[in-house]
Amino acid sequence: MDSVTRYHRLQQHIIRCRKCPRLVAWRERVAAEKVRRHQAEEYWGRPVPAFGEPAASLFVVGLAPAAHGANRTGRLFTGDRSGQWLFEALHRFGFANQPTSVGRDDGLRLHGCVISAALRCAPPANKPLREELDRCRLHLRRELALLQRKRVIVALGRIAFLEVLKAWRENGGKIPGGRTPAFRHAGEWNLPGGVVLIASYHPSQQNTQTGRLTRPMFHAVFRRASQLLSLRSEAAGSQSPRADCF
Ligand code: SF4
Repeated sequence: MDSVTRYHRLQQHIIRCRKCPRLVAWRERVAAEKVRRHQAEEYWGRPVPAFGEPAASLFVVGLAPAAHGANRTGRLFTGDRSGQWLFEALHRFGFANQPTSVGRDDGLRLHGCVISAALRCAPPANKPLREELDRCRLHLRRELALLQRKRVIVALGRIAFLEVLKAWRENGGKIPGGRTPAFRHAGEWNLPGGVVLIASYHPSQQNTQTGRLTRPMFHAVFRRASQLLSLRSEAAGSQSPRADCF
């Protein structure tokens, strides 16, 4: 079985996952109770799969679905304010065909990019427990292994950054210097195998409304990702093939 087929199967497997009792109860309760502004909608209420192209060269990793965002729409960063920032940035640098994302049938396509998360189920108060992250990291590890054309990983927030590094290490990858680096916005680390990890503050309202993360700061991260990928594709003399998923 090729890696693209395995990737699609993995996403179907993730959607059925019920390993975390607290999160299963929460995601289903939120989906049943809803909020007033979304009362007429049917919530997804399940683990949210990765979104994008399995032949992606850019891998973006966030924290977790928002209770009334991706837990409602079934697509990561779709239907919440963090997504407004993310898709605007992805569109600006050619990784998405449109700057907005409101629902799974909104016509959004990613180009050379996959969006995933450290945790696939919405956690109460956006705060996952350590054991939930540990369980869900297996999904991330499998994605890292199956996304064989990734060249840049953008980790959104400190938790995603640390989970990516743990998953990398658990997959047998080395971390330069042997020690986990400290998170810093726009920090850049070369991982073995020609992969660059870039850290960014998460575009949550907690960061965007306080000015901790501004649009120029956020765009600079994706500008850099785009530069790195252009340099590599010039060096390779070709572009990655594309295949759609979700
Ligand atoms: S958080 Fe991850 S491991 Fe836990 S139930 Fe959801 S998909 Fe499964």
